[in-house]
Amino acid sequence: MTAPANASPDGRLQESRPHERVLVWTLGGEELATSYGTNAVALLGDDGVVLVDPLVAPAHARLVERALRRHTDTPVRLVVLTHHHTDHALGASWFAARGIPVLAHAACAERIAAEHPGLIAARRAVPALAGLFDDAEPVRPTVTFSTGVTLHLDGLEVEVWHPGWGHTPGDAFLYLPGQGVALTGDLVFHRYHFNYEDASPDGVRRGLEALRALDAEIFVPGHGPPGGPELLTLQAHYHETVEAVGFDFIRLPEVECEYRIAPREGQLMDEAVIQIKTFKSRAMVKGATQKGNLETLSMVMVDYDYDGEVFALDAVF
Ligand SMILES: [Zn+2]
Repeated sequence: MTAPANASPDGRLQESRPHERVLVWTLGGEELATSYGTNAVALLGDDGVVLVDPLVAPAHARLVERALRRHTDTPVRLVVLTHHHTDHALGASWFAARGIPVLAHAACAERIAAEHPGLIAARRAVPALAGLFDDAEPVRPTVTFSTGVTLHLDGLEVEVWHPGWGHTPGDAFLYLPGQGVALTGDLVFHRYHFNYEDASPDGVRRGLEALRALDAEIFVPGHGPPGGPELLTLQAHYHETVEAVGFDFIRLPEVECEYRIAPREGQLMDEAVIQIKTFKSRAMVKGATQKGNLETLSMVMVDYDYDGEVFALDAVF
């Protein structure tokens, strides 16, 4: 690992360089206006660049291109999408409009065609977002693949693999053999909460195993700072925590939770933290008007080794 994140000249993009051939940029934050903190990544060959996940809109893609130009004049030869979510994919239209090919898994291309026109229209209808999505267009990947593909740039080889339906049906991760670097896409969120919207829990587990099988020391996650193989372990623990928690009610409440693994001061083992963000019960305690009716939350149950089928109660809080 080298250089920590630095602000780019316009003060918006944070840049890091976890490997001499890998540049990572992010706008940080957790909002649409900052691409939800997605990492855009440049892989530097001797005479060309592969650009991965150029953020949520053409305006953000232009920031990435400007930041890239501080390092190299060589052309962007290809844009690769790790999946169809707009925070990774919509910026690609800026490069596609300049004749640069875009590579994605076939299912990623299908989801873009099905979902992005509606999402763009919906965002343009929101005054605060209209400016950002003004010139956004759904990108049409020019090259699709089903299992995997190897790119040969001068001085750099890049493998793109589909690990099955994990975070989304059209997931791809990238691996630079010989450089010890892997780009995980959203199979790994580091210090961000995971988005399960299109995810297959079993598939995510298999995806993490496929990443672990790589001979890589540096992992660039879809969101959050790059790190070592411990990122995979942390993400696996996070999913295990999510799966191990059950809420039991006479009538199901609306619960929005964040799950994370946090270090415990003076302890070797990390601690799984469940943070209840919103809790709306349909059962009211008599006279309860304050505290979001949290009085009706009686217990949280945990099965430490939940197998996906039988919930065997290990602990109650
Ligand atoms: Zn995603």
